[in-house]
Amino acid sequence: MTKKMYYDSAYLSQWETNIVETLEKEDGYYVILEETAFYPHGGGQPCDVGFIQGIPVLDVVSEADVVLHKLERMPDDSKVSCEIDWNRRFDHMQQHSGQHLLSAVCVDLYGMNTLSFHLGTDYCTIDVEASELSTSQLESIEREVNRQIYQNREILSYWVTETEVKSLNLVKQPKVTENIRIVEIKGIEYNACGGTHVSSTGEIGMIKLLKMEKQKGNIRIYFKSGYRALEEFNDSQRILGTLSAKFKTGKDEIIQRIEKWEQEQKQLQAELAILKEQNNEYVAEQLLNNQEGSLIAYRFEDKTLKDLQSLATKITAHRDDVMVLLATTAENKVVLARSNHSGHSCGAFFKEHLGKFNGKGGGSEVLAQAGFPTWEDAFAFYEFSSQNLK
Ligand SMILES: [Zn+2]
Repeated sequence: MTKKMYYDSAYLSQWETNIVETLEKEDGYYVILEETAFYPHGGGQPCDVGFIQGIPVLDVVSEADVVLHKLERMPDDSKVSCEIDWNRRFDHMQQHSGQHLLSAVCVDLYGMNTLSFHLGTDYCTIDVEASELSTSQLESIEREVNRQIYQNREILSYWVTETEVKSLNLVKQPKVTENIRIVEIKGIEYNACGGTHVSSTGEIGMIKLLKMEKQKGNIRIYFKSGYRALEEFNDSQRILGTLSAKFKTGKDEIIQRIEKWEQEQKQLQAELAILKEQNNEYVAEQLLNNQEGSLIAYRFEDKTLKDLQSLATKITAHRDDVMVLLATTAENKVVLARSNHSGHSCGAFFKEHLGKFNGKGGGSEVLAQAGFPTWEDAFAFYEFSSQNLK
């Protein structure tokens, strides 16, 4: 049986002990220590990492009453010095204690029980039993949970018997019937929990609720505690700072500037559409004037597929005996159109020959379009078509 020192103090991060057993499993090397402060996965909290005799600890799992430490390699000696990654542990303590307090406030304000807790590498979530939660309710929860942090309430842990536990008003009845560990936030709640917590709510620092969403008929609340909340603030500041610089304005004016910019964009797009239309008219006339035989073929460098289609349709509308073959280098696209009384079916012609040129596409009797992986392919198809359709 491993002595689990994280139950006595969550703040012990360095100690010396003996290896009592080593195991070589299929997936790596494991050691069992006489006493450990390495917290294994459990109760929604990820495991600790760190070093045993300078060797990285990759994973920590609990099996029956022993704690297994997965190591990069076996230590040479059985007497070892151990050290947990304190930043990671303290982060877990802040998130986990934050969850206790947040869950307690959800019950207190709106009678919503917590169904599950997830402590991820980026953010944490709790799922609370509720079908609806308004933004103002979420704001009230955030304000209250932070008020409780600033009350700096003591957080205690101790062991009780099954009989003693009945006298406590527990958040949730424990699964175990003996060695029940209680985590108490003074004046707030009693919770049966085996995780690591800070010793007073003040150490949580702050809790920022990020968003909520519906999850299987309940509500999922995303949050960050402590340093994570500070980092979140820094990230937002950085993004706001960049936007401020780009729009050359203070952060309070940014939204207004974006709305104005959207208006301008709309206007520009409308003006551009008119100009394109006029330009297409002009280009169509030019192409009609230079027509040789019944086929008009032309390559553009900068036009979109939509431009080609619009242009081709314009030209075929002017004459009733013409075919139009257009290509664009910008998108590796080719378009074929014909007026009503011209012979070929555009769609059928594309369908028959596209495959040889790696093209994909198709169309109707009077208009077809195709895309190609490279301009070489598109150009080869364009050349082939202009030879064959003349
Ligand atoms: Zn806990």
